[in-house]
Amino acid sequence: MLKDLENNLSSYALKSSNSLGRKYQEEPPKLRTEFQRDRERIIHSTAFRRLEYKTQVFVNHEGDMYRTRLTHTIEVAQIARAAARALKINEDLTESISLAHDLGHTPFGHAGQDILNKCMKNFGGFEHNIQSLRIIEKLENKYADFPGLNLCFETREGILKKCNIKRAEKLGAIAKRFIEKKQSSLEAQLTNICDEIAYNNHDIQDGIRAKKIFIEQLETLPIFYNQMKIVLSKHPKLSGSKIINETVRKIINLLVNDLINNSNLNIISKKIITSDDVKNCDILIINYSNEIKKQNIKLKKFLHENLYKHPDVIKMTDKANLIIENLFNAYINDTKLLPKNYYQYNIEKIEHGLKERVICDYIAGMTDRFAQQEHNRLFKAI
Ligand code: MG
Repeated sequence: MLKDLENNLSSYALKSSNSLGRKYQEEPPKLRTEFQRDRERIIHSTAFRRLEYKTQVFVNHEGDMYRTRLTHTIEVAQIARAAARALKINEDLTESISLAHDLGHTPFGHAGQDILNKCMKNFGGFEHNIQSLRIIEKLENKYADFPGLNLCFETREGILKKCNIKRAEKLGAIAKRFIEKKQSSLEAQLTNICDEIAYNNHDIQDGIRAKKIFIEQLETLPIFYNQMKIVLSKHPKLSGSKIINETVRKIINLLVNDLINNSNLNIISKKIITSDDVKNCDILIINYSNEIKKQNIKLKKFLHENLYKHPDVIKMTDKANLIIENLFNAYINDTKLLPKNYYQYNIEKIEHGLKERVICDYIAGMTDRFAQQEHNRLFKAI
């Protein structure tokens, strides 16, 4: 019966019936596939709930209308699931990877990651992608029989988007593909691009709402201008945020359709039959056509220069740096400032030279508002 659930998938989709399994053996689920079980474990995790109060671009308290890490994650999963179904690849696995892809993010978005990486420079560094893996393999602490969430190999491998060779050697089988220079699964490739589709487009909406970017600037981008022209030809009297919303809708549709068509063409031209063919292929199968790729790069460049580097967004970066650096140094100087139960739980690691990593994990797990409250507790309010 479980096999029936994956009967409609293509020959190159990953199937949970062929999964390389979980680290700790468990009874197979009766009414759902192994990848469905993964998805549900991720949704029930603490790290997933915390995404609600973590920055995407705008800090959580700046307004209730902006994307948070959680709503971003849900949008990624929505786009990726729809595309996975159209491509006849594994929707459940795609959704699991999507829902877990940002679990390792620190408070205050990329600014938080960069400063934590700086704090950890002499102690193995910090990278959100590796942290996502740490969370699902080690840090989630709720099951009786195993640490972490004990997810399937394919889900964990899909979450590890990038990894340098030195780190890959330490991580073992899960990172073998980086040493062997092989591609990720179609499900992981798709999640990766859908992450980009989601943030490029929701950042247009949030950036406009926050008055950091303007429609006149967006009109200089072919991808935006062309889709807006189609919207206005159909609705000449349309005004305000509806123009932005309808245009963004059209851009997402254009990107997803191009992605599906072009990926299907790649599957044919590269003679992809099995999931192993995907891994051994010399190109990423899931990709845009050249024309859309060019237009998309212009959009990314625009957002990078005009939104992510906007003085107000940078100001948030400065504040994040100060909060995280101060917290890190305060805990390093006095580990007793950590909550009692967290300190007790990690006492062995702290006493065996892993103090910095224990503190890094604690800070990385904080939400924006908790980091701020904790900073107010230990220092004067900023
Ligand atoms: Mg993301």
